[in-house]
Amino acid sequence: METRRRFPPPSCTSPSSAATLRSLPAAPRSSGNRIQASDALPIPIRHTNLLFSLLFVCSIVFLMRRWRDKVRESIPLHAVDLSELVSIISVVASLIYLISFFGIAIVQSIVSSHEDEVDDFLPDSKMTPSPAPSSDLAAPVLAGREDEDIIAAVVAGKTPSYALESAIGDCHRAAEIRREAIRRISGRGLDGLPLEGFDYGSILGQCCEMPVGYVQLPVGIAGPLILDGREHYLPMATTEGCLVASTNRGCKAIAESGGAASVVLRDAMTRAPVVRFLTAARAAELKFFLEEPTNFDNLSVIFNRSSRFARLQDIQCALVGRNLYMRFSSTTGDAMGMNMVSKGVQNVLDYIQNDFPDMDVISLSGNFCSDKKPSAVNWILGRGKSVVCEAVIKEEVIKKVLKTSVSALVEVNTIKNLAGSAIAGALGGFNAHASNIVSAIFIATGQDPAQNVESSHCITMMEAVNDGKDLYISITMPSIEVGTVGGGTQLASQSACLDLLGVKGACMESPGANARLLATIVAGSVLAGELSLMSALAAGQLVKSHMKYNRSCKDTSKAASN
Ligand code: ADP
Repeated sequence: METRRRFPPPSCTSPSSAATLRSLPAAPRSSGNRIQASDALPIPIRHTNLLFSLLFVCSIVFLMRRWRDKVRESIPLHAVDLSELVSIISVVASLIYLISFFGIAIVQSIVSSHEDEVDDFLPDSKMTPSPAPSSDLAAPVLAGREDEDIIAAVVAGKTPSYALESAIGDCHRAAEIRREAIRRISGRGLDGLPLEGFDYGSILGQCCEMPVGYVQLPVGIAGPLILDGREHYLPMATTEGCLVASTNRGCKAIAESGGAASVVLRDAMTRAPVVRFLTAARAAELKFFLEEPTNFDNLSVIFNRSSRFARLQDIQCALVGRNLYMRFSSTTGDAMGMNMVSKGVQNVLDYIQNDFPDMDVISLSGNFCSDKKPSAVNWILGRGKSVVCEAVIKEEVIKKVLKTSVSALVEVNTIKNLAGSAIAGALGGFNAHASNIVSAIFIATGQDPAQNVESSHCITMMEAVNDGKDLYISITMPSIEVGTVGGGTQLASQSACLDLLGVKGACMESPGANARLLATIVAGSVLAGELSLMSALAAGQLVKSHMKYNRSCKDTSKAASN
């Protein structure tokens, strides 16, 4: 009986279950060939259906006859013997089976025909990301259809590309079909972009919509970085020749000088909504209300309900006419924390709307936060983790490993990183190439690469110490935005890199410790990178080393642009 439509469970969490693209073009499969969950039963489902139907009919016939005889012999109907009892039970059991069987089939057919309609007529503007696997893969409506049919429907615009995962219930197959549809629509293939070897279920509803493959990036390991008495091997995902080698050299210089030390000055993610009032006076009233310590305490309770890791620390207010910007800062445990803080801010806005009903919420983010944009507010007040990292590099190490001198390094640092950046009007860019190291570690460890903008804010300082023999170097980075849970951190490769650093997932003993340690490692790596590149510049080695490690980069002027 094929009316009871069931499909195999979605294979979204297992790349191994990925089916290869079914031969194209292929004849449509008959419904009789459709694989069903019921196929796994010891008895085929049509046999059980037949069995219960026969049982029902036989029991009813038997009971009718018995009751007819009883009526004739004037025996009360309620005096039942064992055979009648068994027949009654059989009737009830088979009735339950048949009602539930056909009832579910009817309901399913109504639901799936409705879903087909919705999918086919969804306008393109409704480009919503696929919902969470648990909800959207419950009733895959296209699972039994041939790949060729589905591809044709996508190409014709009848089935939205974004709905493939939920409609098919197999993330790998959805990616494969989408890829083929894109090839036909664009007339261009994606031959160099791998499809196999990736768990598409792991990104569903959280990391990337409408996948067709994945980009390969090499990961190199620099180190060990000796930081705060511990050794760290640094995973760096990059395609820039020299970068890992250079960072490695910096790590070596630090290690041979006894290691670096770091301190986390501040740990708070921010979100700044903007609200508008009729007058600036009224906007100022809310500002004063928020600055009242008792009100702040009450609002903290409301805010902290967003997560057991969220702890409101501060609300910085700024007025622009009648618009009020409120920069909420909160700890977020081991999460980078944007979602967490946004939820807390929403809770507070809902709450203060009671006291300020004339408040018009313009946007949950008013850019005073400030996320993924260069801004003085992050440079001055910090965002995420504010870290300082320092080391004293010995004279002999500078000569032997870095091939330069203390005085040359101090001079280049002052003239390039401080004066040069000053005349460039730099905002947080008083360094040689912090963003190189930040980006490479961010990508390897599943951080949000767009937050490289503010996470790379850095000022590098160098001084001669110990009678001018040794070099004191420090880097100050006020807004390193990292997490070890959430986002891309849980993906297999990124998670492996976090594991290498010993900061994978949530820190059970002290929530937030993993994310803070990761921030210090990023800072320590930047220190190593600064040391090495500045030494190369001081020694006039930059072009030479790029020619050696990055032969494909013929444009040496580009190489010298760091
Ligand atoms: P983000 O805000 O960085 O996008 P989310 O807030 O979405 O991250 O994800 C963090 C999730 O991880 C939350 O659901 C939180 O409850 C959970 N979590 C578990 N352990 C921790 C931890 N130690 N620190 C922070 N969050 C944690």
